Amino acid sequence: MMNERAGDRIVVIGGGVVGASAAWHLAKAGHPVTLVDRHDPGHATAAGAGIIAPGTSQRPLPAFYPFAAEAVRYYPEMIAALAGDGAPDTGYEVVGELFLAFGDDELARLDGVQRTMEERRAQGMPNLGDVTRISSEEARKRFPALGDVSGAIDVPGAARVDGGHLRDALVSAAKARGADVRTGEATPIVVNGRVEAVSDGDERIACAGVVLAGGAWSDALTERLGTSIAVAPQRGQIAHLTMRDTDTSRWPILGGFGDQYILTFAPDRVVAGATRETGSGYDVRMTAGGLASVFNEALRVAPGLATATVHEVRIGLRPLSADGLPFIGPLPGYDNVVVATGHGPSGLQLGPFSGLLAAKLITGQEVATDLTPFAVDRTIA
Ligand SMILES: Cc1cc2nc3c(=O)[nH]c(=O)nc-3n(C[C@H](O)[C@H](O)[C@H](O)COP(=O)(O)OP(=O)(O)OC[C@H]3O[C@@H](n4cnc5c(N)ncnc54)[C@H](O)[C@@H]3O)c2cc1C
Repeated sequence: MMNERAGDRIVVIGGGVVGASAAWHLAKAGHPVTLVDRHDPGHATAAGAGIIAPGTSQRPLPAFYPFAAEAVRYYPEMIAALAGDGAPDTGYEVVGELFLAFGDDELARLDGVQRTMEERRAQGMPNLGDVTRISSEEARKRFPALGDVSGAIDVPGAARVDGGHLRDALVSAAKARGADVRTGEATPIVVNGRVEAVSDGDERIACAGVVLAGGAWSDALTERLGTSIAVAPQRGQIAHLTMRDTDTSRWPILGGFGDQYILTFAPDRVVAGATRETGSGYDVRMTAGGLASVFNEALRVAPGLATATVHEVRIGLRPLSADGLPFIGPLPGYDNVVVATGHGPSGLQLGPFSGLLAAKLITGQEVATDLTPFAVDRTIA
């Protein structure tokens, strides 16, 4: 059946956390919306670890932090609104994070990290809480599988979310609000320099505007529209373990100076990750080297995980931009296409808010957030 309600229909391409959020926000605001997702193997959202604690990150560019602060401030409101729309199951919970130091060099840097977190908190970064130093023994009480650490900062406000559950909640809430959700390969159709419709492989869906949220596959979409954006897949391999007869649901997240981390979910899940394989292309194989690095690091930090059962390994392709910042804004050359992608390792923290902003932009609403650093046509050094 061809969709004839073209008038103000928005088509969202890509149903990861970003596109699902855009679709829900559009539906919530009363706009006719169609979400088309291809379910590519390796889509990032279901593989994502789910750490929501941007104030503990050490590496991003400065522009990341004010945006991340807004995004994370929005989280509790979004979770409550999803529950109000009959979609309460997201796995979102404030469980805290322990930022760990191993060895004298890392211990010497811990004071600086704590100061940075305190400064960020003073500048308005939410979900850090009152950061304090705790002993190795205290840390192990909180995370019983942990080994000896040289030092630890307790970050009580850090949260986690289950990416797959959150995506499903957003989609189901969008459907409850009337969104048309389809599986298929979406292709924008350009007529006289405007995207007038999107094909989902079977049908032509006439539309007033399009949100491109294709994750690591976004560049192929913009290329169809004559522009290339600097987003490429970065493979992440992440291990899910279960701890027999152990309630891990309130164990804190473990982070530190390196890229790897450990977090838990109810009732007995422990998640250890992840590789960051830049240049992986769309190869979603599980590799010996990838698993070795994940398990070696997890057991170095938490030797008590040695007897845990390996439940599954997930592989996800992070949509990584060349400068590490997302792309959020109009696609140059089109007045009815908005891009929301490139969230790299931070898409579960930032993505729901980016989806909200994309929904506003495509419907011509004012956006108070400064999106200049995320412009699609910014120059990337
Ligand atoms: C191992 C791992 C750990 C991570 N940990 C964290 C974390 O702790 N915290 C955090 O904030 N982030 C984390 N991330 C990052 C986060 O998961 C991603 O940034 C985020 O999920 C990206 O969401 P997305 O919607 O842009 O992309 P995706 O989830 O990849 O969704 C894009 C969707 O678009 C679809 N698509 C593409 N092209 C088309 C087309 N033409 N037609 C139809 N559909 C199309 C794809 O099939 C896919 O389903 C992690 C990622 C990985 C892999």
